[in-house]
Amino acid sequence: MSSSMICFRCGEHYDDETRVRCVCGEPLWFDTPSTDFTWSDSPEMGGMWRYEALLPVEKPNGIARAAGGTPLLRSEALDDAAGCRVYVKDEGENQTGAYKDRGSAVAVPHAIEKGADVIGTISYGNMAISTAAHAASLGRECVVLVPDEISSVRLELIAQYEPTIVQVSGDYGALYSDALSLPESLPISILVSDAPARISGYKTAVFEIYESLAPETPDAIVLPVSSGGFASGIWRGLRNLESIGLLSELPRLYLVQTAAADPLTQAFETGATEPTALSPDETGETIAHSIGNPDPPSGTRALAAVRETNGAVVSVSDEEIQTAQRRFAVAGGFSVEPAAATPLAGVTRLSERGEITSDESVVLVPTGTGFKELGTGNASVQTEITSRADLPELLDSILE
Ligand SMILES: *Cc1c(COP(=O)(O)O)cnc(C)c1O
Ligand SMILES: [Zn+2]
Repeated sequence: MSSSMICFRCGEHYDDETRVRCVCGEPLWFDTPSTDFTWSDSPEMGGMWRYEALLPVEKPNGIARAAGGTPLLRSEALDDAAGCRVYVKDEGENQTGAYKDRGSAVAVPHAIEKGADVIGTISYGNMAISTAAHAASLGRECVVLVPDEISSVRLELIAQYEPTIVQVSGDYGALYSDALSLPESLPISILVSDAPARISGYKTAVFEIYESLAPETPDAIVLPVSSGGFASGIWRGLRNLESIGLLSELPRLYLVQTAAADPLTQAFETGATEPTALSPDETGETIAHSIGNPDPPSGTRALAAVRETNGAVVSVSDEEIQTAQRRFAVAGGFSVEPAAATPLAGVTRLSERGEITSDESVVLVPTGTGFKELGTGNASVQTEITSRADLPELLDSILE
């Protein structure tokens, strides 16, 4: 399987599959080989490895086999709030509860194939959990770099796979570029949000959406955006389908940010092709802790994806996110984390603005489960209280 790397912006090719950046500074992605791939009658079979021919690694062992293959559900109960015909691509159903597994399932085996003894990552969220799980599953050591001030809840979630966890003091955001320039002699491969093999894995979400809906096609796809990695993968997938001849019209791609840190919305609104990094006093606190990258490494690519598909980037407030999270659960039955609720909050706004209409089919992508968020013992929940003897009477009063 020989693949080369290509830059979306300047078109430069590279043969070195361990390279992550173009000389122009943009992250690279794989130049997918052309194949005679077609849709299957039973797309659920085999999860994302149905698309092995379009990926840069052969189907690996371990939990990578369980990645992808998430359900696409028509969810009429969300139509009113969303202002369109809603489909939900529930990425919380992946092994570690987030779409990140699609990327780890490709990038971890790919790094091992290229000679990495140790897998590393820089994250204290879903990226860390997913990378640690996939490294464990292939019997590889994993090093997770976290900030020195990390909550015990997060540490516990990552630590269950027993990676080496290193708490690093100093500017955590700057670690990303530090990692790009670590000495090549170190036998570690650090897989961050825009590692090219991750982007390859992410694109399978789009293949699944189209295969499940065929011969129908969605008018728009809506997802949260932070580093721009997932958005890049979705765009890559759309372009692959176009070049294979399975897609004649691109859906509009809408990306949703938290208003607390939205460099991509700001760039979109001012017509800039590149985001401007936000300084610490330009960012705020948000409940959507999985998003809010002040300096998104794949931001330029994500903006290009939005513009080429006639989509948009929008920001939503914590209040809108909370409402959307509750609607996902109460009207849809979906448990989603706050970041993953932003597509519903975003589409509600877009409908109000008239950018999405009620007859359109729109795929919302909740990127991560809500189950990891809970269980911290901090919830205030209202209940009814009674004894066994008084239960019938209580039920009578509730149900009358
Ligand atoms: C990582 C993550 C995102 C953001 O994805 P990017 O690829 O960084 O843009 C969104 N939602 C959830 C749940 C995530 O874990
Ligand atoms: Zn380039």
